[in-house]
Amino acid sequence: KPKSKKARMKSRFDFTKIDVSLLPTVILVGRPNVGKSALFNRLIRRREALVYNTPDDHVTRDIREGIAKLGDLRFKVLDSAGLETEATSGTILSRTTEMTGIVLARTQIAIFLIDIRDGLQPLDLEVGKWLRKHAPKVHTIVAMNKCESLDEQGLIAAASGEAYSLGFGDPIAISAETGLGMAELYETLQPLLEEFVLHLPNVLKCEDDTLSEFDENSENNLPLQLAIVGRPNVGKSTLLNTLLQENRVLVGPESGLTRDSIRAKFQFEGRVIYLVDTAGWLHRSGKEKGPSSLSIVQTRKNLMRAHVVALVLDGEEIARSRSSMKHEEVMIARRTIEEGRALVVVVNKMDLLKGKQSSMYEKVVQIVPKEIQIELPQITGIPIVFISALEGKGRLDVMNQVVDAYRKWCSRLSTARLNRWLQKVLSRHSWKDQSTQSKIKYLTQVKARPPTFVAFLSGKTELSDADTRFLTKSLKEDFDLGGIPVRIVQRATS
Ligand code: GDP
Ligand code: GDP
Repeated sequence: KPKSKKARMKSRFDFTKIDVSLLPTVILVGRPNVGKSALFNRLIRRREALVYNTPDDHVTRDIREGIAKLGDLRFKVLDSAGLETEATSGTILSRTTEMTGIVLARTQIAIFLIDIRDGLQPLDLEVGKWLRKHAPKVHTIVAMNKCESLDEQGLIAAASGEAYSLGFGDPIAISAETGLGMAELYETLQPLLEEFVLHLPNVLKCEDDTLSEFDENSENNLPLQLAIVGRPNVGKSTLLNTLLQENRVLVGPESGLTRDSIRAKFQFEGRVIYLVDTAGWLHRSGKEKGPSSLSIVQTRKNLMRAHVVALVLDGEEIARSRSSMKHEEVMIARRTIEEGRALVVVVNKMDLLKGKQSSMYEKVVQIVPKEIQIELPQITGIPIVFISALEGKGRLDVMNQVVDAYRKWCSRLSTARLNRWLQKVLSRHSWKDQSTQSKIKYLTQVKARPPTFVAFLSGKTELSDADTRFLTKSLKEDFDLGGIPVRIVQRATS
């Protein structure tokens, strides 16, 4: 009998610590009207969904993807409606589109929904066949939906027998609309999702995990999440459009289905890049004026999802006001660093500083780096690019800097290499405090994205601020980690 109360929901992994791009994927399948959208909406609650357009012949359909929260589990959930071919043609999900292949290749689990009130229909059997043919490796769970008013044991039991005959094991009884059976769904999904997480590289599971084995290249090749932020009218949309035009767009941002946040995705030199929160500001851009149109809270939420943040400034405005950054821009830049993201500053509209204005061009090129150094003293070498989004000039520079910052942000240094370096650095005579040289026992990198190090110190000592800064600075210089946040944590050895 389905339980409606919450079961003990306790996973051994903290799913909230897993980078969303790495979460396992669950796809919802079933013939039309069984309740896929209802379940999708229940699982993602009010979180945003992103929409993929699937150009399938001449019909464009949408696949929605969202981050599902079920108790303490998190996973990506896909609504497969976009993979269906016209129901009127009598077959659904029958044609294999390129998109189907792409989607199934990155899916681990399918929830196959049926409508308990209709009993098994011929189309349900087709969905079953389709799954077996195209997704033999995807673990399928059959969920009998719309069970909320069917309390009588007999009915559900009879339907279970029928659903079992689909060949995907014991079905579960749920109601996407009332939430009945979510505890069962949790219990069914938990071991499957945990199995998946078990196979992720250690460091990605938990902030504090010390990793033992690690493949540097694979991490560097994870999809890069880029946020383009800035005040209204600085040229974010224009820049975005040139980036998307120039590169192969994998997902268009032009769907009307979701309003809040749609990610565009493109390829740059073979690397997949997600643009975080394009729609969020696309809608704001130009239309709303005034200082409140760039909400720091909203921006912060997006910063958390981005790996690299491109902060766009208006070069022409800088020339006019002779000051490079507005208060809100400084705030965003600081937040970006505090959140441990990589920052790239893009100074746009440089085409307006030509001819009579060409002396201003040079001024802007001088002012911006100086002011950034003053406002963000904790980091040296933040990349700054001067571009004209309108003329399409400099977009390659932007992308090269973004990719380079990301590479640094993902860097990993072996403990052996670090300690060889440490011995050399300690023998330098630049330490403020003489005892520092004997205090640091060894150094190890505990995490990348951003690079985070632990300095083990003898006993309960602490490094002086000046020497901590010197250590960080040397580390950044010697290992090419300039321009990105790098953290050193001090820990006492017993
Ligand atoms: P989809 O075509 O599979 O995405 O199905 P929808 O989610 O659009 O649902 C089809 C219809 O079934 C809608 O009218 C929903 O309100 C209804 N529905 C979905 N889930 C439930 C449920 O758990 N119980 C009941 N009674 N109706 C549901
Ligand atoms: P957003 O609000 O930041 O997305 O800004 P938009 O991309 O909508 O641009 C605002 C205005 O600035 C538009 O009129 C653009 O045509 C113009 N603009 C954007 N980039 C440039 C540029 O590089 N040079 C010049 N001259 N104008 C630009």
